[in-house]
Amino acid sequence: MDPHDYLARHIVDLPKSGIREFFDIVSTRTGVISLAIGEPDFDSPWHIREAAAKSLDKGCTHYTGNAGLMELRTAIAGYVKNNFGGTYDPATEILITVGASEGLDIALRAILNPGDEVLYHEPCFVSYAPEIAMAHGVPVPVETRVEDNFRLSIEALEAKVTPRTKAIMLNFPTNPTGAVLERADVEAIAAFAIRHNLIVISDEIYAEMTWGGKQHVSFASIPELRDRLILHHGYSKSWAMTGFRMAYVCAPKWMMDTILKIHQYAIMCAPTTSQYAALEAMRHPAEDMKPMLQAYEQRRNFLRAAFAEAGIPMHNPAGAFYAFPQIEKFGLTSREFAVRLLDAENVAVVPGTAFGACGEGFVRCSYATGLEQLKEAVTRIARFVKTL
Ligand code: PMP
Repeated sequence: MDPHDYLARHIVDLPKSGIREFFDIVSTRTGVISLAIGEPDFDSPWHIREAAAKSLDKGCTHYTGNAGLMELRTAIAGYVKNNFGGTYDPATEILITVGASEGLDIALRAILNPGDEVLYHEPCFVSYAPEIAMAHGVPVPVETRVEDNFRLSIEALEAKVTPRTKAIMLNFPTNPTGAVLERADVEAIAAFAIRHNLIVISDEIYAEMTWGGKQHVSFASIPELRDRLILHHGYSKSWAMTGFRMAYVCAPKWMMDTILKIHQYAIMCAPTTSQYAALEAMRHPAEDMKPMLQAYEQRRNFLRAAFAEAGIPMHNPAGAFYAFPQIEKFGLTSREFAVRLLDAENVAVVPGTAFGACGEGFVRCSYATGLEQLKEAVTRIARFVKTL
């Protein structure tokens, strides 16, 4: 049977994830030091795990309302107000989702008609282009450059916008580059979106992870954007809760009504146990995050110094837990570099091209791994580049 005749063509035709292909190679080896993983190396804080277990003890094993526990949405409204500067009604404008992955998917499905174009910046999270295509949209990458510290330029956006552009999808701090926007950047992008009448999908999942004294500036802090903004945040990264699959979407009621419809029919509600864990996570977020954030910043500072010493150029990654060193000068493609490094030194990094064509010349090194491992990894990388 020809899959094209029997399966959804727009899914059959999606390219395989470059990151998956590389992980398949990594999985054939043992004793690898991996800087390839995109999730915290910390376990979730103990009191959060206990709250999940307690909810089971108490028999909280049923569905919640479609949008999630009201108590949790109320806590989120407070958190978003204090930390992002946006005001959302917990009754009608906040939805608890199965990770930001679900939130991004249903937001795109809610707004796109076939052929609608969505601008997004590359290098970016591997799921963006496929998610847009799965929602019958047309992904339109906008290149960001190391010379600009991977911030989005308005000229680059203006060059790609057309009458069919429906939305712009953003992720700052950025996976994989660690890029962070200044307030002036956020204001300029907001003005661009308003000028072209676009919806803004802002994935701020790494919001708490900014380094060197930088402050995260949320798109939710721009009042003029409120009516066209879909904000995503969640528990996977800053609370180290990837396995709980907990995140949330904030959007004005006129959009949320439609987003919620998809969630209601496709998902029913996010897992109840995880919602109780998330509720506990809202009790003292700063204390939970502090030791983890301190460790990431220490590792990031170490990596900056160590790559500089090894003669490997790197822009200043001011957010998230990824470094994006430039390996172009060693005369290998990103993929060749990653495969040969793995072969020679048993260290896994991800080729920059997994995050878009303009990632060529770079590799992504996650520092969501212990400092001792990082030190050993960089010693091996330094030894490897000397052989090139
Ligand atoms: N957005 C970005 C930018 C990410 O890096 C990730 C996870 N790697 C996600 C979304 C998905 O997060 P979640 O675990 O909440 O689905």
